[in-house]
Formats: sequence, structure tokens, C-alpha cells
Amino acid sequence: MLSVVIPAYNEEKMIARTAESITSLLDNNDIDHELLFVNDGSSDATWRCIEESHEADPRIRGIAFSRNFGKEAAVFAGLTECKGDCAVVIDCDLQHPPEKIIEMYRLWEQGYEIVEGVKADRGKESAAHAFAAKCFYRIISDATDIDMSNASDFKLLDRKAIHALINMTERDAFFRALSSWVGFRTTQVSYDVREREAGESNWSTGALIRYAISNITSYTSLPLQVVTILGMVMLVLGVVISVQSLYKWYTGSALEGFTTVIILQCFSSSFIMISLGIIGYYISKIYEGIQNRPRYIISEKIE
Ligand code: UDP
Ligand code: MG
Repeated sequence: MLSVVIPAYNEEKMIARTAESITSLLDNNDIDHELLFVNDGSSDATWRCIEESHEADPRIRGIAFSRNFGKEAAVFAGLTECKGDCAVVIDCDLQHPPEKIIEMYRLWEQGYEIVEGVKADRGKESAAHAFAAKCFYRIISDATDIDMSNASDFKLLDRKAIHALINMTERDAFFRALSSWVGFRTTQVSYDVREREAGESNWSTGALIRYAISNITSYTSLPLQVVTILGMVMLVLGVVISVQSLYKWYTGSALEGFTTVIILQCFSSSFIMISLGIIGYYISKIYEGIQNRPRYIISEKIE
């Protein structure tokens, strides 16, 4: 059986449409399936729409979070609760073309354990967004040694891979990277990102930046090494300035150099503060890790 995991946050306009198009598609292709909507603490009628879809077709199930925990949590909850031999994760807004599920499923039947949906193009984005996304994926790709530049959350996972993923204890799990990191026999399917059919994107710029920082620090301690590098640069500069000052003192023209002192002072103290900030961020991550709170809390379930 194939499970289709669909995270949904304020998607009342999309639930019925998405359920209908995926179900009829899978029925036409004779694929035994269940649909699992994860209501990520929506404030609109999303949950009622899921309940209605379940009444119309019992193969449609749902779980609801007690509040908004974010898409990553919704994906992990869906994978934990799904019952299929394999699962596809797909957005609720039909930006991931459902027809590709068939292609992914056929590849799974041929023995692939992970089928990744890769964006053929990134759809409509502003230049600033495209640039930020490029920098972000560059850092993540370097850290994981996997090319992530066109990666997405649209994926099919075999039961083995699901098992590996849901048993990871890290709190800020970045599904897109972790599902590549686990390995297994992997292949790719490319797709064109579509326009969102209804409703609007749930990501603000601030949320995207926080998401990027959280994911980068989950995968690499490079920022901490930057601290060391800054320290070295300051040390070299310090040596040069010291030699120069000593020379001036020796030749008797010492009292100059106020500007140098001020500039050095400004730079070194700002480097120190930035460094403390970076270290503090990692410490807060360790702290959250130790608290070991659950990734999400389920308030309701439709079986
Ligand atoms: N989503 C979610 N929780 C959130 C934000 C988004 O479950 O806090 C879901 C949303 O319902 C959709 C998917 O994640 O199914 C992608 O969201 P969106 O379309 O807003 O993102 P974009 O396509 O702009 O990256
Ligand atoms: Mg979308």
C-alpha cells in the first residue's frame, strides 16, 4: 500500500481539491493507497474539510496538531503515523504535480527505496529570494556532501527509509537533507513547480531566514570555525600593528596612531560580539536538545 502524506496549514480551499485529484489519479492507476492529512494547527476550517473528506472516502485519514509546529514536524508526524509500504510526501497546494506520484511509485516497484522529486526549475521567485536560496543550498550542500540545489520535500520513501528517518532524535530535523543523508537506493524524478492553485504561501521572509539559520546550524559547525578564522585574522593584524608601533616608539615619533587604535578597537569588539552570538546560538540548540521536548503534539486523529 502507498501512503500519501500531506502537511496542511490553513489550506481549507485546497483539501477537497487535493484529496479528489490524488485519489482519482491513484484509483485510475490501480494503486492501493491511503491519504494522510496532517493539520498543522490551522486556524481556518482545514480540519473540518479533512473530516468531510474522510466521510466521503474512508481511505482518507487525518491527524491534527495541538498548535502550529511547522511543516517539518507535520512531515515527520505523517511518516510516523502512515501505514503504507512506502510513502509519498507532497504539498497540499498541488505545486508538486500529483501525476509524478505514479512515476515515483513505478520506480519504487522496480526496487528503488528513495525517489526524490527534483525541481526542473524553481517556479516564480523574486531575484532576492533566488539568490538567498542559492547561498543557503550552497552551504547545506557543502555540509552534507549532497547536491541540494534543486531538492524539494516531494519524495517517495520506502518503509526502511521511513523507519530510519522517524527514529532520528534530532529536534530540528530538516527533512529534505536528512532523507538524502540516510542513503539507500536512490533515484530522481524531475518535475516543474506549478503555481499555487488557491490560498497563499505560508512563508514570510522572516520565517524563511529563521528556517535557513536553524537548518544550517543543524548540519554544520562551520560558523564556529569562522570565529576561529576571525580570531587568527585579528592576531595577524595585531602583530603587524605592534611591530609598527614599536618601530615608531623606537624612532621617537610615538604619540600618533589614535585612528588605528579606534579602528582596531571597533573591529575586534564587534568580532568578539558576533562570535559570542554564534556560540550562543549553538548553545541554545544544545539546550533545546537536552530538554528533549516532543517534536509535535497530536490533539485529534481520524483512523
Ligand atoms: N505547511 C505546514 N505548516 C506550516 C507551513 C506550511 O504544514 O507551518 C504546509 C502547507 O500547508 C503546504 C506545504 O507545507 O502543504 C508548503 O507550504 P507553502 O505552499 O506555504 O510553501 P511554499 O510552497 O511557498 O514553499
Ligand atoms: Mg506552496
